[in-house]
Amino acid sequence: MDRSALKPLVLLGATGSIGTQALDVADRLGVAVLGLAARRGSDHLLGLAEAHPEAAIAVAAPTSDERQRMDAKLGSRVRYGPDSIVDMASQPDVTVINGIVGAAGLAASVAALLAGNRLALANKESLVAGGPVLKNARRTGGGLLIPVDSEHSAILQCLTGEDIEAVRRLILTASGGPMRGRDAESLASVTVDEALAHPTWSMGPRITVDSATLMNKAFEVIEAHYLFDLPYEVIDVVVHPQSIVHSLVEFVDGSVKAHLGEPDMRVPIQYAMTFPDRLAGTLDQFSLTDQTLTFEQPDRAAFPLLDIGYEAGRRGQSAPAVLNAADEIAVQAFLDGRINFSAIALIVEGALERVPLRELESVADVIKADAEARSVASDLVGSR
Ligand code: NAD
Ligand code: MG
Repeated sequence: MDRSALKPLVLLGATGSIGTQALDVADRLGVAVLGLAARRGSDHLLGLAEAHPEAAIAVAAPTSDERQRMDAKLGSRVRYGPDSIVDMASQPDVTVINGIVGAAGLAASVAALLAGNRLALANKESLVAGGPVLKNARRTGGGLLIPVDSEHSAILQCLTGEDIEAVRRLILTASGGPMRGRDAESLASVTVDEALAHPTWSMGPRITVDSATLMNKAFEVIEAHYLFDLPYEVIDVVVHPQSIVHSLVEFVDGSVKAHLGEPDMRVPIQYAMTFPDRLAGTLDQFSLTDQTLTFEQPDRAAFPLLDIGYEAGRRGQSAPAVLNAADEIAVQAFLDGRINFSAIALIVEGALERVPLRELESVADVIKADAEARSVASDLVGSR
């Protein structure tokens, strides 16, 4: 493929881990950046705005000081509030990379698909919380939904050219996170620093804690269910500490396809921009003989959020939105030192028991379930 065939980019969550790596890819490929969005009007975002003078800037939740400073430096290029991000994702003929963290990314994901754009989705919470709504938006708007999450990019690459009817099983790999091998009892005393020390990937704090509890892997199971339209019974998880095999697909004839490579998010980010084609990347030639690859079953007793997540996925409708929202509250409480590591699962489980199941037809329905779950989870945090 020719680089000139790539659509210009709108990059949401531009200051984060995904955002930084996406800009790296865009700059290297010479793709125009038409929009940059983040939560705050930080120095980081100002620097990006200066480096990309052609880009419009959207800031979801600036302080009044930040707003004054951004207005003075950027004038009419900058807009504020969540709607400014939705508008940015709605402009026609762009690739929207959604690297926002949390359910806050849902409205922009829906807007990108309704506008018929390619949505390169890192913001897995969009699909977890609003799977049915996002699928509707894709159908109505004709947009293309391409995963950035490394496991789902791997599965998409294994499935390309295959008939989905011929799939027997998806196997998502999990690094196991920094707590792999610990038993349930010793997990109560895990510190924030320990939970943030991921062995193979460098990511934002929320997903790093979710990797330590295996919540992230349950989110990815739900993400795979909605992306590839497959039932939970055929989506498996295996722990693979080296993060070299990014996931696998087993077919009805007994063939198994795996996707391998160095763990570097710039590869799936770029693939989401070029799919179904490829462009040269920056990684050195892969050395198979330098690898020792091992696989083991996840410890479902020590990391109960994996099965709690499967169960929420099977219940469907608003249950995954509740799962995600309660986890957002619980992870923040853990990072703030208000609850211990093992309490994250108890709070998520408690919220799922207490918040009633609802149909999801619109973004508003998702926001309602999300808000209910946040409120219940916050109460549960407070009572601990
Ligand atoms: P991060 O914390 O490093 O960055 C988050 C970004 O989102 C920041 O730019 C922040 O300003 C922005 N943001 C936060 N709240 C917002 C809001 N309300 N409105 C608009 N912008 C907002 O997170 P990250 O690690 O880059 O992860 C981003 C997403 O990608 C998450 O959904 C995560 O699960 C997913 N993901 C990340 C990785 C990775 O390697 N980092 C891998 C796979 C998937
Ligand atoms: Mg992943």
